[in-house]
Amino acid sequence: MAQKMAEFVTVSHRGPNKRAVEERAHDFKEIYPIFPAPQGGKQASRCSQCGVPFCQTGCPLQNNIPDWLRLASEGRMKEAWSLSEATSALPEICGRICPQDRLCEGSCVLEQSGWETVTIGAVERYITDTAWAEGWIEPIRPAAELTQSVGIVGAGPGGIAAADRLRRLGYQVTIYDRYDRAGGLLTYGIPGFKLEKPAVERRTQRLADSGVEMVLNFEVGRDATLAQLREKHDAILIATGVYKAKRLTGPGVGSDAVVRALDYLTASNRVGFGDAVADYESGRLNAAGKSVVVVGGGDTAMDCVRTAVRQGARSVSCLYRRDRENMPGSRREVGHAEEEGVKFEWLALPKAIHGDASSVDAVRATRMRLGAPDASGRRAVEEVPGAEFDLSADLVIEALGFDAEDIPTLFGAPELKLTRHGTLHVDRDQMTNLDGVFAAGDIVRGASLVVWAVKDGQDAALGMDKWLRAKAARETVLETAA
Ligand SMILES: Cc1cc2nc3c(=O)[nH]c(=O)nc-3n(C[C@H](O)[C@H](O)[C@H](O)COP(=O)(O)OP(=O)(O)OC[C@H]3O[C@@H](n4cnc5c(N)ncnc54)[C@H](O)[C@@H]3O)c2cc1C
Ligand code: SF4
Repeated sequence: MAQKMAEFVTVSHRGPNKRAVEERAHDFKEIYPIFPAPQGGKQASRCSQCGVPFCQTGCPLQNNIPDWLRLASEGRMKEAWSLSEATSALPEICGRICPQDRLCEGSCVLEQSGWETVTIGAVERYITDTAWAEGWIEPIRPAAELTQSVGIVGAGPGGIAAADRLRRLGYQVTIYDRYDRAGGLLTYGIPGFKLEKPAVERRTQRLADSGVEMVLNFEVGRDATLAQLREKHDAILIATGVYKAKRLTGPGVGSDAVVRALDYLTASNRVGFGDAVADYESGRLNAAGKSVVVVGGGDTAMDCVRTAVRQGARSVSCLYRRDRENMPGSRREVGHAEEEGVKFEWLALPKAIHGDASSVDAVRATRMRLGAPDASGRRAVEEVPGAEFDLSADLVIEALGFDAEDIPTLFGAPELKLTRHGTLHVDRDQMTNLDGVFAAGDIVRGASLVVWAVKDGQDAALGMDKWLRAKAARETVLETAA
């Protein structure tokens, strides 16, 4: 029976019940559960089917949101899932961790007209988590096997999305990753309270079950050059992410108690997997009982402060040089962090770290104020003279963002063309200046979002398919002529 849509007038916006702070601040489990079945469908039925799906435009993947909302509201979950996965290789992961307020939900016509957005991300997750629970998501079985092989460097969302699409087309796919587990930042960067690891593992296991070869603990640059991989495979995708951490400058920043965000988060995630982590055991990468100061205002900083809370820090502060309105991270995450007891020092810039080579006791910071907008329209910040203050700290975490590593040098391929930001230069098919070498994700865009890495990975798969078909056709012509 067809379910009525446009129920926003009678059904109010309601996300899945967020776990209470007292409970969630002590563990690394996701803070939102999946929608219970009637609620998921009910929330989907709020969609006004407006006919001008700005939500779809706001989604980097151009997901067919109004259509799968309608199907979910009618209880036609298998069809909803089928439609959803047609445009996204990782719908339940994007549903969990996309900053929807800046993407689909921020563009929703209901949100714009004051009725509050449809809970698009939560319904997207509800649809695909249901598909997993029902056993609809099976290993990929291509209609025909192709002989051409593709090597993918990097098992993050960009690499995973490309592997999914290429395997469906029948290519022989090998993924190389320098870590011991697949998933990239989904596994070792993003904490479990945003994305529990089994949700990543079932995706990478599915790829393995689909015949994708996973070569882990394999670092391109150390274990093979790009040229050697090109010899081995018909085409290559570089999806290595960006890992060169931006560092603090000023007196005292070299102390052992000033640590990089990703080292800290990786250690925490490893502990979650049950790995022995010496720097965690020693306390260097463990916030328990400490006053923690995190410097930065992006998603990484939010993940650090909330991890520190869960590790049992005595106090957690976040220093950011701009204000709340001008921070790059998701507002929703700031709200969660505040609820969990994190103190934000907006418009504050660290100037020096007090302490010695092995420990710190305070961060000297200065107050900032917003100045005139710069060329990009973003308001510049300037120091308030004589407004320095000290913030007590035993552990300082730098979460200032990431730059691209020097891939041409690391990969032994100095001819690989870079952008002025040091990321890989690609054409409209995601191909670099080297024939048959493609790139996707953060290594192309700079530090970005999972959903953009998925889009790039899928686009690269299309570009690679086009290129590989042309290559196969050329080879057939040559063989016929010979
Ligand atoms: C702490 C943190 C929190 C984040 N939170 C969010 C969020 O909530 N929502 C969101 O949308 N985005 C978030 N992001 C951003 C998101 O994680 C990235 O944009 C996304 O993971 C990029 O995907 P990728 O596939 O390009 O790279 P990655 O996920 O970085 O994966 C790259 C992979 O390549 C491997 N690799 C690198 N070099 C080599 C080599 N030489 N040889 C072999 N393997 C190599 C790495 O080991 C890694 O596994 C967050 C990022 C961080 C750091
Ligand atoms: S992929 Fe992200 S932006 Fe697109 S519909 Fe899902 S949650 Fe929204």
